[in-house]
Amino acid sequence: MSRQELSNDNTFFVRTFGCQMNMHDSEHVAGVLTSAGYRRAASIDDCDILIFNTCCVRQSAEDRVWGNLATLASPDRRPRVVAVTGCMAQRHREGIMTRARAVDLVFGMDALGRLPSLIADCLSGPLCDMGDVAEARIDCLPEMREGGVRAWVPVSHGCDNDCTYCVVPSVRGLQRSRPAEEIVSEVARLSLEGVLEVVLLGQNVNSYGRDLGGHLGFAGLLEKVAAVDGISRVKFETSHPRDLSEDVLEVMASVPEVCEYLHLPVQSGSDRVLERMNRGYGRDYYMELATRSRATVPGLTLTTDVIVGFPGETADDFADTVDLVRRVGFDAAYIFLYSAREGTPAAEWAGDVPDPVKHQRHDELAGVQDAATARSLAGLVSTLQQVLVEGEAKKGGMVRCRTRGNRVVLVPAGAPRRGVLDVTITGSGRHALRGEVVDG
Ligand code: SF4
Repeated sequence: MSRQELSNDNTFFVRTFGCQMNMHDSEHVAGVLTSAGYRRAASIDDCDILIFNTCCVRQSAEDRVWGNLATLASPDRRPRVVAVTGCMAQRHREGIMTRARAVDLVFGMDALGRLPSLIADCLSGPLCDMGDVAEARIDCLPEMREGGVRAWVPVSHGCDNDCTYCVVPSVRGLQRSRPAEEIVSEVARLSLEGVLEVVLLGQNVNSYGRDLGGHLGFAGLLEKVAAVDGISRVKFETSHPRDLSEDVLEVMASVPEVCEYLHLPVQSGSDRVLERMNRGYGRDYYMELATRSRATVPGLTLTTDVIVGFPGETADDFADTVDLVRRVGFDAAYIFLYSAREGTPAAEWAGDVPDPVKHQRHDELAGVQDAATARSLAGLVSTLQQVLVEGEAKKGGMVRCRTRGNRVVLVPAGAPRRGVLDVTITGSGRHALRGEVVDG
């Protein structure tokens, strides 16, 4: 079949890079194509239309996409249509097709509603269409979820902050909150489809509703979502420490469906670095907030993100970060090497930290955190945990579940494959727990 003969009963495959928001956007890409008659391919090697939904938050994420595109350079390895969307599309636009000749189509999420016609049009020649914000609302487009008992639900898109290292505001735009009624009806529909846990997503969920004027804030939204019939658990990501309010903590403490899980990126433990990052808080504020959050929400699982090797980060700054990580005792942390992103203020700054130093700092901090994570997991042994069954574990003969605090628990096969269970934790490893289902 020639490229010109592509019809809408052909197959597609979406390869997603990056965060949960991208994963969720890919569900809409799949939904739009399925509604137009395309079928999902079983594997990437087996599709007529290959779509990369990309991330550009770190250079390494971009490099992975360029590497994948390079493997498609030879025509006999190429699907009929190769398309790129997501953050890299937003950032490089036509430049993607100049660098990667295999790409037929670059499109923005704002043009997603027209994807079937863009696919048809790009058969006549490479095409770039970013759409525009006024044109489409991705949340109203069809979606094709993986199924299962857990679903991501965006509450807002974009971000109003200007952290000096971050490209998100320039690629995803200013914050646009979804009206609460729209979110609640989506959650109600998901509940009818069998979803038990929803994860509310936003770049900064705590500023939810500010752009809607007089609208309820995030605490109010949490209560409304938690009240939807059939929803057993509600989680959310990501919180900005400056905007996390007392009323959100109180809802977490008092509404049983809202889980005791808080991802609160600190990014650095040095006041000097935090100021240069433009994060809007200092180390004492953060530590006090962590203490207050744990006091208000009993059993809270507190996780964070840290960047090491920010421009100008001295040995003393790094020591402050290690100190903060030790003092707070996070239950888990994601530690990233700083990578300069073109167009951000920090990318222009002197004081680049050499790569070997970045790696050495990363490894030192990871060692501190790994020990804290292992202690935190070991502290759960012999406790009773309510877990949500996610499905078959990669490890043979086990079922993978997740606690309210987002920790993975493996239980022996034979456990129910669906639903919420009570489990006694029988052991802990470096990153996961083992458990036994409590009879009855
Ligand atoms: S809060 Fe800062 S780091 Fe997070 S998306 Fe917004 S600008 Fe980026």
